[in-house]
Amino acid sequence: MSTETLEFQAEARQLLQLMVHSIYSNKDIFLRELISNASDALDKRRLAGLHDETLRADDPHIAIEADSDARTLTVRDNGIGMSRDEVVGLIGTIARSGTAEMLRQLKENKESAELIGQFGVGFYSTFMVADNVSLVTRKAGEDTGTRWESAGEGTYTIEEVPDAPVGTSVTVHLRPKDEEDALYDYADEWKIREIVKRYSDFISFPIRLVKSEGEPETLNSMKALWARPRAEVKDEEYAEFYRHISHDWTDPLEIINLRAEGTFEYEALLFIPSRAPHDLFQRDGRRGIQLYVKRVFIMDDSRELIPDYLRFVKGVVDAADLSLNISREILQQDRHIQMIRRRLAKKVLSTIKDLMTKDPEKYRTFWREFGRAVKEGLLGEADDRKAILDVSSFATTAGDEPTTLADYVSRMKEGQEEIYFMTGESRAQVENSPHMEAFKAQGYEVLLLTDPVDEIWVDAVPEYDGKKLQSIARGSVDLPSDDKPSEEKTGEFAPLLTWLGETLEEVKEVRLSTRLTTSPACLVSDADDITPTLEKMYKAMGQQVPKVKRILELNPEHPLVTGLRDAYARDAGAADLPETAELLYGTALLAEGGDLADPARFAKLLADRLARTV
Ligand code: ADP
Repeated sequence: MSTETLEFQAEARQLLQLMVHSIYSNKDIFLRELISNASDALDKRRLAGLHDETLRADDPHIAIEADSDARTLTVRDNGIGMSRDEVVGLIGTIARSGTAEMLRQLKENKESAELIGQFGVGFYSTFMVADNVSLVTRKAGEDTGTRWESAGEGTYTIEEVPDAPVGTSVTVHLRPKDEEDALYDYADEWKIREIVKRYSDFISFPIRLVKSEGEPETLNSMKALWARPRAEVKDEEYAEFYRHISHDWTDPLEIINLRAEGTFEYEALLFIPSRAPHDLFQRDGRRGIQLYVKRVFIMDDSRELIPDYLRFVKGVVDAADLSLNISREILQQDRHIQMIRRRLAKKVLSTIKDLMTKDPEKYRTFWREFGRAVKEGLLGEADDRKAILDVSSFATTAGDEPTTLADYVSRMKEGQEEIYFMTGESRAQVENSPHMEAFKAQGYEVLLLTDPVDEIWVDAVPEYDGKKLQSIARGSVDLPSDDKPSEEKTGEFAPLLTWLGETLEEVKEVRLSTRLTTSPACLVSDADDITPTLEKMYKAMGQQVPKVKRILELNPEHPLVTGLRDAYARDAGAADLPETAELLYGTALLAEGGDLADPARFAKLLADRLARTV
């Protein structure tokens, strides 16, 4: 039979190089990865067997066989197996988009070896301990098998094997042990037992150590972690289970157990990760929760079980009364699933709320990593809104630490009825924008909302705790302690305001402001119009947005504004006036961090004007 030699895809080759020159110190995990793959393959075969009896396995299990003399370790499963094309596609290339990202980050940051775990390199981790790896596999339902072999350099070989059993067997040819390099003797039964116990005890299929003499020994307890009382399970066991289902490397931030009894019974074990996955904001990212029915794995990534804004939550739901054949389509409509989803969301939010008081440090980590995703929930069902707002925190002019809305409300000034906020692209930009002036001068706290999603949810959420949420850069704001410009004053400025409104095509209205103390002018959006940041976001997404005109507000106390008023009164036809108007508008735009339509023209006008004063 002919043997073909094929090349690894470029990224796969880079990843292998990293493994061969192993920068990651915990090499034991290669065995966990192989067992995890075997367990997934057994799950898949069981599912396939539900639809087609001929695909079922007798005695599904994982076998580990060590040969100290030959220095090999073999992990075998009678799971679903792989076709030849799958071997080439799954093992010879790296399909997952995250891997390219990981390689890029690894190159930039040599210390970040732990990143490897976050991206789950799986099978390739065998090359940390092996100088040669071979794999023999046959897919359930197919006639012939495939043998794959590689030394982890640029190529691998592949050949047909007519008599392979269904399932997959991976044989690792071990490198010499080198304990200084944390490379242990993985052919040692004691070491194998230790690794399986530590990392894979909960695997639901027997993991058997095959011995040269005597009966095989089952190494794992196979107990479903979610079915055991919390007090009985060590945190370390939860953490390993979390790593198994999440492909994450770190410990979870928080563990949540849940049990529902009665007409529709289920148990859930949920984890809040301690950091956001790289694909949290990618639509095709892995997400969701595993669904089991009476301890039997049914499907991965069930998005139906948790609202999208909590997509980073990992875990298992084991429902007692669903059909083993349940499909994704049915899940979407199932009333019980919708109940579970609501209950899980509530429970996650209440857990976070508890964290805020019990462990503020953890809460801060949570919010830093996931706050942006959680706030998306404010756009969805109004049911969750209050609970989401309760666990949210926001940057504020009142200090460097973010604040909750409840704390903001408790600090509101006498007579203040609204919660003030401003959206924008960065804290510095928002904080220094002219709109802030009067609020700062009079000691009103303003929330600084700079996540893209903030631009959107503020429109969906009218109030918190009976207090209206009010943008300080939109519509008109009346500060309670403010005097409105008197009628007399408005009258004095009326001709200028009218003229400016006609001269400046970019604005829809010119009026006097109460927001300003030091700047001459600022731009505000009309209450129903979209903000400039949102306009930019839409454009960046390639959407057409009609040009929105804003309102120019003038500071009636500023010498530039009063000077302009007087100059206009003296000679409405003076040649300089339109340029001054343009400069005034341009300055307002620059002060809020906006982009001038024609910066070169603005610079020239300004330079000419300055030249006259030096
Ligand atoms: P991961 O398990 O994180 O997807 P791996 O590199 O470990 O990444 O494996 C790549 C793919 O190869 C798996 O997703 C699976 O489809 C396939 N695979 C690996 N090991 C086995 C196995 N023992 N049986 C069947 N398929 C396997």
